[in-house]
Amino acid sequence: MKVKRIRFLSLAVTLFVALTMGVCAQTSAEIDTAVKAAYEKFKGLQEGKNADYIPALAKVDPNLFGIAVIGPDGKVYAAGDLTTEVSIQSISKVFTMALVMQQQGPDAIAENIGVDATGMRFNSIVSVEISKKLGGGPEMNALVNPGAITATSMVQGTTADDIWTKIMDCYDGFAGRRLTVLQDVYKSEADTNQRNQAIGMLMYAYGYIKENPLQATDIYTRQCSVGVNAKDLACMAATLAFGGKNPVTGKQVIDAKNVPYVLAVMATAGLYDDSGKWLYQTGLPAKSGVGGGIIAVVPGRFGIAVISPPLDDAGNSVRAQKAIAHIVDALKLNPYASKPK
Ligand code: GLN
Repeated sequence: MKVKRIRFLSLAVTLFVALTMGVCAQTSAEIDTAVKAAYEKFKGLQEGKNADYIPALAKVDPNLFGIAVIGPDGKVYAAGDLTTEVSIQSISKVFTMALVMQQQGPDAIAENIGVDATGMRFNSIVSVEISKKLGGGPEMNALVNPGAITATSMVQGTTADDIWTKIMDCYDGFAGRRLTVLQDVYKSEADTNQRNQAIGMLMYAYGYIKENPLQATDIYTRQCSVGVNAKDLACMAATLAFGGKNPVTGKQVIDAKNVPYVLAVMATAGLYDDSGKWLYQTGLPAKSGVGGGIIAVVPGRFGIAVISPPLDDAGNSVRAQKAIAHIVDALKLNPYASKPK
């Protein structure tokens, strides 16, 4: 009798879980279909242009197109090219910011850099001047160049090598494998990054960077040149989706308590001056890079990543934006579109 009752109870619990999950979760087949449909729909799209202000980026194959989605069990849903690496570029800013939060707490970022959208281009110098004029506290964020170079300068370490090792260990933890620098991209950007050097010096002059501004700019340039494929980026996004725990390796990379702060800055500033348009379309925290990658985070559900080098005028990958928006619509992932229970 007792055994029967227990069996009935466990069946009821299983049914309840299945039904409630069914309201918001999709089957593997549905996820797979959405990813493949997005790939098919946009693979022929010929809009946008590779970044060329970093000469090495102009040489990357514009037809490269890969989509990867990773869920809570670490399963990878994918279409297109999953293995070719591009430089991570500005997507790195998310993970260096996360590292600083991990070392010093989220207030360090809010107080020294700010957590407001600038509404300006990612390498705007005027935005630094305006922030300074406003006076009350920095009106910037760690996902545009002035704030990102400052965040890199805040990473604690005894030497430049030690700081670099800390950054790479952090990125590796998110990606679930050892990443390396694409040396041709690093050289190309290091030869042409005078504007970023000027930004680093300005941030030093205004006291946001405390010391070694050129070292910070160089480490920042190196972090932007780290090579990643679509699967790496999806894994990095998924680690943020699951409270800082990498769903593939099971490693806790950053504390869960820091993740909401990381996602908030991604939501307000992840796609530079087009962050509002992006949030309007998808409702998701995301981050783009001029290498052609975009990551988007669906908290508790998925990490999504797309790589496609041609960019729009704001510097965001055209195909990646469209493919992610397509998946978000198909799987109803916009968190603002909740229905009454
Ligand atoms: N390394 C690039 C730069 O500093 C990153 C810019 C980006 O991806 N938007 O210009």
